[in-house]
Amino acid sequence: MIYLDNAATTKMKDSVVEAMKPYFTEIFGNASSTYTSAGQAARKALIQSRETVARCIGAQPSELFFTSGGSEADNWAIKGVALRNKNKGNHIITTTVEHHAVLHTCEFLEKQGFRVTYVPVDEYGMVNPDDIAKEITEETVLVSVMFANNEIGTINPIAKIGKLCREKGVYFHTDAVQATGAVPIDVNELNIDLLSMSAHKFHGPKGVGALYIRKGVKIENLIHGGAQESGRRATTENVAGVVGMAQALKEACDNMQEKTQKLVYLRDKLIDSILETIPYTRLNGHREERLPNNTSFCFRYIEGESLLLSLDMMGYVVSSGSACTSGSLDPSHVLLGIGLPHEIAHGSMRVSLSEFTTEEEIDSFIKAVGPIVQRLRDMSPLYEGVGKE
Ligand SMILES: *Cc1c(COP(=O)(O)O)cnc(C)c1O
Repeated sequence: MIYLDNAATTKMKDSVVEAMKPYFTEIFGNASSTYTSAGQAARKALIQSRETVARCIGAQPSELFFTSGGSEADNWAIKGVALRNKNKGNHIITTTVEHHAVLHTCEFLEKQGFRVTYVPVDEYGMVNPDDIAKEITEETVLVSVMFANNEIGTINPIAKIGKLCREKGVYFHTDAVQATGAVPIDVNELNIDLLSMSAHKFHGPKGVGALYIRKGVKIENLIHGGAQESGRRATTENVAGVVGMAQALKEACDNMQEKTQKLVYLRDKLIDSILETIPYTRLNGHREERLPNNTSFCFRYIEGESLLLSLDMMGYVVSSGSACTSGSLDPSHVLLGIGLPHEIAHGSMRVSLSEFTTEEEIDSFIKAVGPIVQRLRDMSPLYEGVGKE
């Protein structure tokens, strides 16, 4: 199997599995039972992991709260800020191409009486900071803009958006689930107030993530119960998960520049080869301002779903877009959001690499995809006569 769907999830590193192992069977104490030595050992691992993860984004450990993943972090940031700051205003600004963990949370809040503005993006999926600025009113309590898009890889001008939110006194949340561990992030330099991340996107375990909450940000709790996470998120700490997350993020941030260089080389080779060899094909997302591991294409006259099934049968795992919309017949809201018509959006393929991806795998994939696209087109009534006039 050649796995090229790393935007959906990644393989855990052996070193991460090894780091986690003792916390299932030996150091399994309850990290909040600090009156026992078993609990203390677990607590120590929790404290160290929090320091490690915080350091990777330039935060203080006391500003980092572990969650069950990226979706919970997004839900917490948006619902938490909205509920807690109702007295100031009821307006939230986000974009049309966010992950569903953000979009569906905002839609839920709209049903509760909040007002949400969905700012459109340009043809590359990038939001213009001026468009955000224009929408900010006295009532605005939160701006939520994703760091990098999970389908098309475009990286947003986060520093500019952070700066303008700070100037206007509005909280700035970013869903950095795709960006964490992939690009350098410093929450202070970028003026980020809240940031979501998820371990399984950077070779850590599934079911664990974190929300960075800048000191002083007013936010309601989402999970009520015990006093874990400084009284801000109940449930017995997932110590093994958190240890795995810290190990994975530390390794992702070590030698990031070197790994990025290799990824960008492979990414660009893939993009150039596909665009050159397969006609009626477009690249989705920004050419330069994009995640080092992301490629996304639309092939005219075919269905992305049939393409990915054919590729899967040959051992290549890619996706037609986001794991969250696959299975539904609607084209991706991201591809529609960048202005593609339905018929083109349907022919999408996302190929996302990881540091484990080799040049041989990319070469082999490039060789395989052209003939499959041609075969599918030859079967398509839409393609009949195209290019033959
Ligand atoms: C994967 C992803 C999420 C959801 O993270 P989970 O940990 O799977 O809940 C949210 N936002 C983006 C951009 C993602 O890529």
